[in-house]
Amino acid sequence: MKTIGLIGGMSWESTAVYYRILNTEARMRLGGLHSAQLLLWSFDFAEIESLQAADDWENATARMVRAAQNLEAGGAECLIICTNTMHKMAAEVQSAVEIPLIHIADSTAKAILPSPCENPVLLATAYTMEQDFYKGYLQQHHHIEVQVPGSDDRAIIHKVIYEELCQGIIQPDSKRQYLEIVQNAISNGADGVIFGCTEVGLLISQEDFSVPVFDTTSLHARDALDFALQD
Ligand code: GLU
Repeated sequence: MKTIGLIGGMSWESTAVYYRILNTEARMRLGGLHSAQLLLWSFDFAEIESLQAADDWENATARMVRAAQNLEAGGAECLIICTNTMHKMAAEVQSAVEIPLIHIADSTAKAILPSPCENPVLLATAYTMEQDFYKGYLQQHHHIEVQVPGSDDRAIIHKVIYEELCQGIIQPDSKRQYLEIVQNAISNGADGVIFGCTEVGLLISQEDFSVPVFDTTSLHARDALDFALQD
């Protein structure tokens, strides 16, 4: 089994979900006492969030690159960035190491493409919903067009991620707001939901929807394990 290097802690609430999925899947696939072989780099998220909010992507990228190089030096044989937002600098991270970076949008596309979904709505941080590094990647590499909620809805989604989910706070009222936002998107033609932030699955799940859900955390973790178990 190959060693997976995780760049995590953004937030640790979702990195903990990655850890659980990777190990549960390894046990399911290999049986008995098997678990995933992992190296984790876990950031202090307050420091990363300050760089994001200050628009200091240069420093944020430098930190991500160092984390990737440290994981490679420690023996990681592939890398996953355990957040959609920090795929903004995926290309820089990949070019700083020899080992492959498993891109979260590729893992997500692998699930969307064989499904009947043609216009899923994207629930994510404002960075991911508004900038091009994720939507544009899906479009250019996989010809997937996503629907993005309106600006008031984007502000709600973003605030709940940073002020609640990343801090381990789960509020029924926020869940109600997310469900309303998705309902609106469905009325506007959305036929699926991308949980495009690795904490969104802490608040809502497939059971809340009649359309298919693409939870990037779970798709990414499973894809990384597929890679680790390849010959
Ligand atoms: N985990 C989140 C994501 O998937 C948000 C936190 C971050 O900014 O990295 O985008």
